[in-house]
Amino acid sequence: MTKITPQPGIMDIALYKSGEAVIPGRTEVLKLSANESPYGPSDRAKEAFARSAATLHRYPCTDHADLRAAIAEVHGLDPERIICGVGSDEVLQFVAQAYAGAGDEVIHTEHGFAMYPILAHAVGATAVCVPERDRRVDVEAILAACTARTRIVFIANPGNPTGTLLSGTELARLADGIPGGAILVLDGAYTEFAEGHDGGAALVSARENVIMTRTFSKAYGLGGLRIGWGYAPGAIIGVLNRIRQPFNLSSTQLVTAEVAMRDQAWLAKVVADTIRNRSWLIEALRKTGVAADDSHANFVLARFGSEQEAADCDAALRGEGILVRRVAGYGFPDALRITVGDESACRRVVHAIGQFKGVR
Ligand SMILES: *Cc1c(COP(=O)(O)O)cnc(C)c1O
Repeated sequence: MTKITPQPGIMDIALYKSGEAVIPGRTEVLKLSANESPYGPSDRAKEAFARSAATLHRYPCTDHADLRAAIAEVHGLDPERIICGVGSDEVLQFVAQAYAGAGDEVIHTEHGFAMYPILAHAVGATAVCVPERDRRVDVEAILAACTARTRIVFIANPGNPTGTLLSGTELARLADGIPGGAILVLDGAYTEFAEGHDGGAALVSARENVIMTRTFSKAYGLGGLRIGWGYAPGAIIGVLNRIRQPFNLSSTQLVTAEVAMRDQAWLAKVVADTIRNRSWLIEALRKTGVAADDSHANFVLARFGSEQEAADCDAALRGEGILVRRVAGYGFPDALRITVGDESACRRVVHAIGQFKGVR
């Protein structure tokens, strides 16, 4: 027997499954399984990406000052309180690594993002799963689950795959109610699609125990580039920067993201189109007899009558070359998560579901 064993917790990790990208035997696939932008990144960002080839022999800067300045200007934030990572996933990882370990508890919620328990296990902490209420994060249930060992509370807001949103008042109540040694992490991967919502930025500015994470992977159409950022109290940023690798982001990532951030006209168009298509998709699904909550993200959780019906519909969609996401692993065996595509994609998926349901 080998004496080589991993750290406690690591073998408790269930491997992360991403949205599928291919259907065997099909060349043309409509991929609505990973919440990617159907519009891709802005042209300016693509130009910056191409231009970056000229300086690939140089090491990137380590302090990300230009990117942080662009983010700070656009969002009206203090650049000293911003940290950038390889996707927002890396920022979440910094938080877990810096603030939780063996004997500590990390709270996530019933339908929350699969990365949260993975991160807790990876640092040897205990992942504590709290029920949601009607597909919404339940603030009181989280507060009831907090103990003296709670170090981190991870919440996606809007939620994935629910698409539901907690109000500023509910977030403030949560931040006020968690124990003194705990941090509330607001994962804002879909904040751009939640009209009138700041992702919790004001709450971060006002408090010492809240962190907001954001990403270029969704609304900015740069999932393949792997870049995200966090906004946190200065003391926490000072901690996270100690464990961040100095060259975690390439010069290509940095310059492309900076240009993408400054192209807010492109972002506004993507968001407006997505919100319009989302409303249409939800209404159209309801007309075919499929239940769907209002969504504040770029996807819709389509709920069927049973697990079997969801599986059959998934199979029918595959037959039409359409990939959506089964979400049994997120506590929804009877549902499919459908990314809001462009107008023709929305029409195609609704048409296929309508045919499956026998509705025209
Ligand atoms: C997509 C997604 C992210 C983004 O992760 P990146 O590492 O920035 O690509 C984060 N949180 C949730 C809930 C997501 O769905």
